[in-house]
Amino acid sequence: MLKVSGLNASYGKIQVLKNISLEVEEGSIVTILGANGAGKTTTMKSISGLLKPQEGKIEFLGEDVTGLRPDQLLKKGVALVPEGRQILAGMTVLENLEMGAYHRRDNEIDKDLEKMFARFPILKEREKQLGGTLSGGQQQMLAIARAIMSRPKLLLLDEPSMGLAPLVVADIFKIIKEINQSGTTVLLVEQNARQALKVSDYGYVLETGKIIADGKSTDLLNDPRIMEAYLGRK
Ligand code: ATP
Repeated sequence: MLKVSGLNASYGKIQVLKNISLEVEEGSIVTILGANGAGKTTTMKSISGLLKPQEGKIEFLGEDVTGLRPDQLLKKGVALVPEGRQILAGMTVLENLEMGAYHRRDNEIDKDLEKMFARFPILKEREKQLGGTLSGGQQQMLAIARAIMSRPKLLLLDEPSMGLAPLVVADIFKIIKEINQSGTTVLLVEQNARQALKVSDYGYVLETGKIIADGKSTDLLNDPRIMEAYLGRK
């Protein structure tokens, strides 16, 4: 579904991504693991159109989408939940969800809102509350729900568990699995390696801008080298 080949990306003169290639199969959950500063967010920014890659190609459903803007990618079915959630703090929960569907012209938006509220009852309870008054976990749920309101085929999640308490983290991973089971392909970047690998099918390990290992999630979980470097911490 998604194929990234030979991706190089820089901030000014500093090259951050060095020849990244990865693939996401339709229907799967794929995780990119890596320590702070490895280039995970930069990878997501490049795939979602927030950062133009210097070199390389990004293909989505067989089409070359390299260099497209985030709004163009959203229309094609690629939605990003950015690091730090970035919900609209001064807008209500309902308005945030409606924003997720701003480009849609079909008449099923209300139906999808009902589905979202059924999946996230806490958001229904807080429908009229301002986004900024929600807890961290609730804001993450809102950010995910808002992205799903765009009816994505591929959902990109940048560190969804960041800064959340362990019980909430477990909830978020459960939600990610459910979203995938209802038909959305997921690419996830995480520092929370063990939990991310447990829900995903395939994983890539990023270190200083390069992919240094990849494999089935079950194999990565059982690889002593990877375990020691990335999984021991959490
Ligand atoms: P984190 O877990 O901290 O988000 P990450 O793996 O997502 O880490 P990136 O945010 O992609 O890493 O950063 C990769 C490298 O690029 C880091 O060395 C960082 O300092 C640098 N970097 C990130 N954003 C910028 C920027 N806007 N300008 C210059 N350098 C940047």
